[in-house]
Amino acid sequence: MSMSRPNTGIKAIEMQMGSFIVYPTLLWDEQNLVLVDTGIPGQLDKIRRLLEAEGFGIDQLTHIIITHQDSDHIGSLPELIQASVEEVKVLAHEEAVPYLTGAIPLIRGTTFAPSVHVHTALKDRDILPLAGGIQVVFTPGHTPDHMSLYHIPTQTLIAGDALNAKDGKLLSFNDYYTLDHPTALKSIAKLLELDIKKVITYHGNEVTHGIKESLLKIVNATINTSL
Ligand SMILES: [Zn+2]
Repeated sequence: MSMSRPNTGIKAIEMQMGSFIVYPTLLWDEQNLVLVDTGIPGQLDKIRRLLEAEGFGIDQLTHIIITHQDSDHIGSLPELIQASVEEVKVLAHEEAVPYLTGAIPLIRGTTFAPSVHVHTALKDRDILPLAGGIQVVFTPGHTPDHMSLYHIPTQTLIAGDALNAKDGKLLSFNDYYTLDHPTALKSIAKLLELDIKKVITYHGNEVTHGIKESLLKIVNATINTSL
């Protein structure tokens, strides 16, 4: 265990994914190591190396939380489950479960995900007793099953694809990949209820400045242009 690492914490890990970079999130406490989102298929070794760089072994992984069913978020989930020594627990929003278990085809395209067992189906406002407390924030729109996570001790929002960011500036969802814009916007408006000190976006890394202002700007700009 690294001396510099606190007993409980959260960190976005930078992972190359083809020509893109994505930011899965690690959370931990004394008993648990949690990974949020898993990249595309075939990234097990990359994830293993990234965990090791943080001083963790892949055998320490106790929970995997999936923000939504897109293939760049669930891709290496089956490999991670296979690689885990003790059975790693898989958690996802209840709307995501039928996609992850392979009961219904994935939203983009017609393929089914390799079936995995989901241990816990989550609902909006559930609080997970992991890493000091993680609150589920259901944020549909990008996909109908999309959820974000709010790490209570650090007031960090893991936004998945509900928000985007560039150069440390918080941006609205990706227009092209977001299926239901009005619903996605309502989800962003809902985030204003939270006191957020940091946002981790999956495709745009972290934002620590001007979060509330940016959220208000995104919500108001879109309301004004739709009048
Ligand atoms: Zn994505």
